[in-house]
Amino acid sequence: MITLQTSSSFISALTCSGCNREYSFYERATFSACCQKPLLSMYDNSERIPQTILHSRPTNMWRYREMLPLLEDANMVSLGEGFTPIFTLKKWASKYDFDSILMKDESINPTGSFKARGLSMAISKAKELGVEACIIPTAGNAGGAMAAYCAKADIEATVVMPCHTPQVFKDECELYGATLILVDGLINDCGKQVAALKQTKPYYDVSTMKEPYRLEGKKTMGYEIAEQFNWTLPDVILYPAGGGTGLIGIWKAFAEMKALGWLRKDIRLPRMYAIQAENCCPVVETWNHNQTNCLNYKGKPSIANGLAVPQPFAEQLMLDVLKESGGLPIAVSDQDMLASMKEIAKTEGMIIAPEGAALFSALITLTKQKQIQPSEKILILNTGSGYKYLENL
Ligand SMILES: *Cc1c(COP(=O)(O)O)cnc(C)c1O
Ligand SMILES: [Zn+2]
Repeated sequence: MITLQTSSSFISALTCSGCNREYSFYERATFSACCQKPLLSMYDNSERIPQTILHSRPTNMWRYREMLPLLEDANMVSLGEGFTPIFTLKKWASKYDFDSILMKDESINPTGSFKARGLSMAISKAKELGVEACIIPTAGNAGGAMAAYCAKADIEATVVMPCHTPQVFKDECELYGATLILVDGLINDCGKQVAALKQTKPYYDVSTMKEPYRLEGKKTMGYEIAEQFNWTLPDVILYPAGGGTGLIGIWKAFAEMKALGWLRKDIRLPRMYAIQAENCCPVVETWNHNQTNCLNYKGKPSIANGLAVPQPFAEQLMLDVLKESGGLPIAVSDQDMLASMKEIAKTEGMIIAPEGAALFSALITLTKQKQIQPSEKILILNTGSGYKYLENL
């Protein structure tokens, strides 16, 4: 393992995703003042580095150090997140006549979900920017992850969560020393509570896509997928979309790797499918022209807590990824998620999160609709551990 060098980040700017206006990355950033849109981290790839540099790197998401926005290594707050395995699900694939189903298993991340990637990055940046108190509205997993990284970083943590969330999501926050506030409603109602609390104290708000760096942590899934596929890519990626960080991040990573020369310029990028819960599917509704956008969408809770996001701030970026990649969004019922969760446990020996389970139901539907061919190389992202949800069943 090599020692990482100080200021090895290639970050060059933060830009507005609406109009490309530049913002400083030396100050605490939220979203763009000009368009009220998410900010994106840009990198200077003029100093090209070969992928072989990765051979000696640590087996976590920080192996892509140059393409992450942290300036000083000393501010890194890591619990070993990322570089998760990709499994072949032979039994399930043959049961449904697929040639190959691959599943990247994010459940082994610290705090049991891929939220660890985003929060490791965001809390490292918070530390670098001298933040003393962080606050987050969460459907569950993001709150636990933020609490853990804040504990390690010595930053005060406040987590605002729907009261119907399973007990373990609440208990972990308190064990990590966070202040937990419960709200009767969904994550957008928690967001309103966060806005009120920010009037009383200068909290750093790490709400999904209203803070630029969780996206940078989540994008490392895209880097890993390319590296683990030996610098090729699958034909299809299924992703359970709530706020959409992973969907947007993976797509961003593919573009960055092309610019870096790590992926061929003419490579065919995967079709990206966003899977939502029938109880809360704003992106599906907008895609199907049942509404102009999600701003007035009202959702209901789902056993897949992470998918109960009625008004995702980055909706437009999600729609852009789906359109550019040739994929689409689709909704799955709670009942079907539950059935898939049980089936994967029995056939593959893995208790996956209901969010991940939703992808298996969606895949069967999409294949029946001829959106996906059984001969294609299909990658499913199991975003979390099912163990935290057992109370929901
Ligand atoms: C948060 C979460 C999601 C949704 O992720 P987004 O980045 O908000 O789209 C999916 N699965 C699990 C297990 C989650 O915790
Ligand atoms: Zn703008």
